Amino acid sequence: MNCPRCGLPKELCVCEEMTKEAQRIRVTSDRRTYGKVVTIIDGLRDVDIEKIAKELKRRLACGGTAKNNRIELQGDHLNKMKDILIEMGFSEDMIEIS
Ligand SMILES: [Zn+2]
Repeated sequence: MNCPRCGLPKELCVCEEMTKEAQRIRVTSDRRTYGKVVTIIDGLRDVDIEKIAKELKRRLACGGTAKNNRIELQGDHLNKMKDILIEMGFSEDMIEIS
């Protein structure tokens, strides 16, 4: 199967890696009702957000949801998020933790 964007076979295509490197990702945390904290990853575009959410949940052993280009993870993971996103192929300069 070929990539719909560049037309190359999947094993040669680097679209997803290039897209990842060009992402500007914002990571924030938010305190919800009853003091529950969620970590929010925002700004993801043109990537498989479900796949990324699944990977993050596995690495952090937490629950979470992915919708509208936004991932919400249960718990406060701000301190780990940058390293994990870099390991997953995102560019350090593009990750904003606040
Ligand atoms: Zn491609």
